Amino acid sequence: KEQVDLLIDDEDAMVKLGTSLAEATEGEAIIYLQGDLGAGKTTLCRGILRHFGHQGAVKSPTYTLVEPYNVNGQLVYHFDLYRLADPEELEFIGGRDYFSEAGVCLIEWPCRGAGALPDADLEVRLDYNLPGRKATIVAGTTRGVTMLARMQE
Ligand code: ADP
Ligand code: MG
Repeated sequence: KEQVDLLIDDEDAMVKLGTSLAEATEGEAIIYLQGDLGAGKTTLCRGILRHFGHQGAVKSPTYTLVEPYNVNGQLVYHFDLYRLADPEELEFIGGRDYFSEAGVCLIEWPCRGAGALPDADLEVRLDYNLPGRKATIVAGTTRGVTMLARMQE
């Protein structure tokens, strides 16, 4: 199966989806997070980081574009490209270096970096389904298909 649709009732369930996504990555993945402001992208990232052992807060790196984490040796790069004016700007923040390293790249607003980003293993689209959310997860690579399968075990 290359697509999964889920109803995510509340914030706790969004964090849980993050932990199950993180588990399925086995430490290396490119994940795009699509959805309007407030859809829950950063909450999902918090769940992913939580799985690896990060207990603290997670803020969208809206102004710095990327927040790097090293959680007990697991590298996680959290991008928020909302304010990226031009995909070429990714070069200046060392985007290439992040993508070439073994780790998990979480990319909010990937459309702003179109052409300068690696293909997504998984694309997560979050939509409002008030009071909760709807998540649509699509695999874009064979690695992504494997991840989706692991999530459904
Ligand atoms: P984004 O990064 O997409 O802008 P956030 O992760 O910052 O969104 O979430 C915005 C708000 O939505 C937060 O207050 C969060 O608690 C809430 N939220 C997240 N997931 C859900 C959900 N599944 N159901 C209801 N509220 C949620
Ligand atoms: Mg955010």
